[in-house]
Amino acid sequence: MRNIVVAGAGLAGLRTVQELRNQGFAGTLTLVGAEPHRPYDRPPLSKAVLAGESGPVELPADWAQLDCEVLLGRRAESLALHADRPGGTLHTTGGPLPFDGLAVATGASPIRLPGPGAQHVVRTLDDCRALAPELRAGARVVIVGAGFIGAEVATVAAGRGCRVTVVEAADAPLAGALGSAAGALTTGWYAEAGVELRCGIRVAAVEDGGLALVGGEMPADVVIAAVGVRPDVGWLAGSGLAVERGLLVDGAMRTSRPEVVAAGDCAAWWSRRFGCRLPAEHWTLAKDAPEVAAATLLGREAVYDAPPYFWSEQFGRMVQYAGHHRGADRMVLRGDPADPSWAALWLTGSRLDAILAVDRPRDLVQGRRLIADAAELDPDRAADPQVMLRNAVGVRC
Ligand SMILES: Cc1cc2nc3c(=O)[nH]c(=O)nc-3n(C[C@H](O)[C@H](O)[C@H](O)COP(=O)(O)OP(=O)(O)OC[C@H]3O[C@@H](n4cnc5c(N)ncnc54)[C@H](O)[C@@H]3O)c2cc1C
Repeated sequence: MRNIVVAGAGLAGLRTVQELRNQGFAGTLTLVGAEPHRPYDRPPLSKAVLAGESGPVELPADWAQLDCEVLLGRRAESLALHADRPGGTLHTTGGPLPFDGLAVATGASPIRLPGPGAQHVVRTLDDCRALAPELRAGARVVIVGAGFIGAEVATVAAGRGCRVTVVEAADAPLAGALGSAAGALTTGWYAEAGVELRCGIRVAAVEDGGLALVGGEMPADVVIAAVGVRPDVGWLAGSGLAVERGLLVDGAMRTSRPEVVAAGDCAAWWSRRFGCRLPAEHWTLAKDAPEVAAATLLGREAVYDAPPYFWSEQFGRMVQYAGHHRGADRMVLRGDPADPSWAALWLTGSRLDAILAVDRPRDLVQGRRLIADAAELDPDRAADPQVMLRNAVGVRC
């Protein structure tokens, strides 16, 4: 392989470039990105950057050493793969790029609400720059979606003195990611921060001056859609690669073509550990899976199988989650959710499948390791926040 193109200049794209060089690839490397900026870090956008407490954070890279052509402001539009041999051509807004190997790292785009009214999303640096000046003290800000991004933006807006309402279709915040039972444990955080939370509300459209609801309306000066993302894989239509919710890859981050890999938010990867495809959409996966994607492109055996991990900073709390709880048969609380710090554990039998830690970083670190080891816990000891989680281990698989 002499010529590799990486589509998407976010975290996963940059990490793929870095890993290809780390792993000895000496051929031609090209990184193509739709945004006009060099790769930067997204998590600070909905936190310190939106709050005006810090500027954007460019991802660290030694560009001279990477010896990679970086084509910014240039979008991949379609992909033509050779029928009779490996390789193909990436067609971009700036012209065709032939390749022997391709890494797809085009991330995801926020879902927008229907309707003619103005709405903001928070995905890119430019989104953040457009929204920040609107968050003025006294402004009526309505955020649609009480997921992680909605909760983080509500935290910032309330901190800037806005009158904030969060509207959620489900019966609890974070219900999509954590399930209603665990998500409901965060409900009180909103009122505490002076944010109105209205669950079970369906938005019909964004209109001038606010939201049209199913059965009502809600005035707003600023509307922010935080209702999730869709993997940016529409441009792969007609390429022959299998796309469902994301570009399908196996544990080696390989698509149905060995010379095409994918990593980060655009990839629907197969977790051998959990026996299912897992949504990406987390920073850690975008950072770590490219090591495997690069190895695969270079013809080496590698598998990504770490338990998912993500964090969120909301309403003054550090919220961390590791593992995968769908399929677990029960949730055990570790501590009282009315206290400042607590955790929830999901178990199948006595095996730890997932952990949610609220201001309990040590539990998270230990829990993450125990999940990776498929450790079995004594549920009574695990429920006692005075017992170190690692000391609640019963029998190991
Ligand atoms: C505001 C915000 C806060 C977050 N906070 C956290 C957090 O606290 N914790 C956590 O674990 N995760 C967090 N995340 C998620 C994490 O940042 C993402 O999972 C990660 O950035 C994904 O990286 P990626 O490289 O796969 O995708 P992206 O970062 O989306 O990069 C993809 C790049 O590809 C470009 N692109 C798209 N289509 C094309 C195309 N056709 N041609 C060329 N380029 C294209 C895009 O413009 C983009 O620059 C947050 C995300 C956001 C948006």
